Amino acid sequence: MFENLSRRLQQTLDGLRGRGRIGEADLKKVMREIRMSLLEADVNFEVAKAFTKRVQEKALGQKVYESLTPAEQIYTIVYDELKELLGSEPKQPELKHEGNVWFLVGLQGTGKTTAAGKLARLYKSKGRRPLLVAADTQRPAARDQLRILAEQVGVPVLEVQNGEKPAETARRLREHLAKDYRDLVIVDTAGRLQIDEALMDELAQLKDELEPTETLLVVDAMMGQEALGVSRTFDERIGVSGLILTKLDGDARGGAALSARYVTGKPIYFGGTSEKLDGLEPFYPDRLAQRILG
Ligand code: GDP
Repeated sequence: MFENLSRRLQQTLDGLRGRGRIGEADLKKVMREIRMSLLEADVNFEVAKAFTKRVQEKALGQKVYESLTPAEQIYTIVYDELKELLGSEPKQPELKHEGNVWFLVGLQGTGKTTAAGKLARLYKSKGRRPLLVAADTQRPAARDQLRILAEQVGVPVLEVQNGEKPAETARRLREHLAKDYRDLVIVDTAGRLQIDEALMDELAQLKDELEPTETLLVVDAMMGQEALGVSRTFDERIGVSGLILTKLDGDARGGAALSARYVTGKPIYFGGTSEKLDGLEPFYPDRLAQRILG
């Protein structure tokens, strides 16, 4: 991931090593290289521009160009900024004693259903009593997939019916919880291959009915540029409280993570690291920043 950033940055900084000071023209050149490498790593232009602007401001603020070791300082500033953009410290979603409802949203194929199963497994192992809700009212295959995962994890699943209205789903959920106490409800919502107005309306209505305590946007790390528009739309239309970044085990170049964070400003709580049910880990901003820089 980000091979280009580390290689390019290293080369540019190597050229500056041993020099007592860097002029502003050199600094501009370094910033251009950083921006280029971010773009090559599939980072959206808007994000790349904002990122380099911040690095440049910090570098100028610290008078890097007058310092004795400017190369190291710029490297540190880039690392710090990457870490900050990715969220600084690992964070966990809100988890109350009871009444937790986590709403998982995202495009089809991002790994939403898998993440729902993984979360159920993880929190069951922590002593919670999860219930999975298969809330795709149009795709029975999506519901079947969640039912199979629920069986593997050993947690119950509530399935919506074709065309079921959000108010009806909320009523059935209340009934279910009255009979079978659960302290964490994980809702796998409908996904489509692209942003779809009707889907956004349905998700917004379901959210109003279920009043989730967390709304987690599932973002595929392999999505690249597309993550910016998708994250922005979900956040504006549905409201997102946190992110799950899937397929970190793939050869993604990191654009999706930076874009989703930049647009929503919400924490990345978890990273998906395999197709298997145990492939979910807390997300560490420093580790990804380090991996990006190599
Ligand atoms: P959904 O349509 O968003 O519910 O996506 P799915 O949960 O069906 O996942 C789509 C594909 O991505 C499936 O083949 C999953 O096994 C795979 N997948 C999900 N999460 C990960 C992950 O973290 N790593 C890898 N390598 N594959 C994943």
